[in-house]
Amino acid sequence: MKITQIVLASRPNGLPVLENFRTEEKELKSINEGEVLLGACFFSVDPYMRGRMNDSKSYAASYELNNPIVGACVARVIESRSPGFTIGDFVVGYLPWATNSIAKAEALRKIDTHLAPLSYNLGILGMPGLTAYFGMTEICKPKAGETVVISGAAGAVGIVAGQIAKLREAYVVGIAGTDEKCKLLKEQFGFDEAINYKTLQLTDKIIAGICPKGVDAYYDNVGGEISSSVFANLNFHSRVAVCGQISQYNRLKPAIVPTILPEILTKSILVQGFIVGNFSSRFGEGFAHLTQWVKEGKLKYKETIVQGFDKLPEAFLDLFSGKNLGKMIIEVG
Ligand code: NAP
Repeated sequence: MKITQIVLASRPNGLPVLENFRTEEKELKSINEGEVLLGACFFSVDPYMRGRMNDSKSYAASYELNNPIVGACVARVIESRSPGFTIGDFVVGYLPWATNSIAKAEALRKIDTHLAPLSYNLGILGMPGLTAYFGMTEICKPKAGETVVISGAAGAVGIVAGQIAKLREAYVVGIAGTDEKCKLLKEQFGFDEAINYKTLQLTDKIIAGICPKGVDAYYDNVGGEISSSVFANLNFHSRVAVCGQISQYNRLKPAIVPTILPEILTKSILVQGFIVGNFSSRFGEGFAHLTQWVKEGKLKYKETIVQGFDKLPEAFLDLFSGKNLGKMIIEVG
């Protein structure tokens, strides 16, 4: 079978460009015992994949040059040599950016197609949803009436994190990069306030104006100067979940921001970085809660769906200019 795949052609220097990717054709071998042949339906592009394009050690291994990019994907089983899967099943797994691929059965999760749209398994019912769930419930731990700030609020993780804080009856403030995103956060997702950091230069005073009682919990998806302005407003015994630092991923030198350690000391602030995998033994619990809330209409979701396998690199790059509202998904067909 002839397939199309997208490989890492070169490593980025700063912001990735389309030339870092190359599309090529390949002949796929036949499948072995315990394997399935898959046809890709939906791909997820995620900010952490930027780190994997570097040749440096991190929690996720680097992509190898001239090998396919790998990411979360919902696919359909076309042929199976595993008793656990039959033709027509839908699965989710970490698969190569390829129109078709062969995977070991044990690396795939079968999707219950009755629960939600298939693509939700890459977002609210997938890694980003679980990230929001554990970061908010285990680190931010908001109580009723507390003020919670979320940066990167209109993205895959932020939208869910904010709604979970609302379920806990917190006062929720989102930070996002367009007026449209801010309007939606308030009107559709129940945020109490939303600030466009691109039109309003965020300072300590601006955050203080929007959070008059100070900030009790901060869910940080972006880092850099935005986070510094929130940090200056943290309350005694506040909590910070350091989930992502997207403002730093393409920088050749890290941003110079005020030191936060004195603030952490004098206000007894808990700051905890985390990777969703830290909670892997509890994914079942997280998935069950998220699924239930989606079914009950307590959690709403939003996706930006781009059509066409060839649009994968562009959609990935668009994460860094904020073109996505909610989860960025690529529909292959
Ligand atoms: P996302 O928010 O759906 O997409 C990225 C968004 O980041 C963009 O839409 C853009 O929105 C914003 N952004 C891009 N460049 C920025 C900059 N320089 N400054 C401020 N905002 C910027 O992505 P996601 O999947 O939900 O991930 C959000 C964060 O969580 C990322 O940092 C990611 O690495 C992290 N994450 C961590 C874990 C974990 O296990 N710790 C798991 C998943 C994700 P605007 O229009 O608002 O700028």
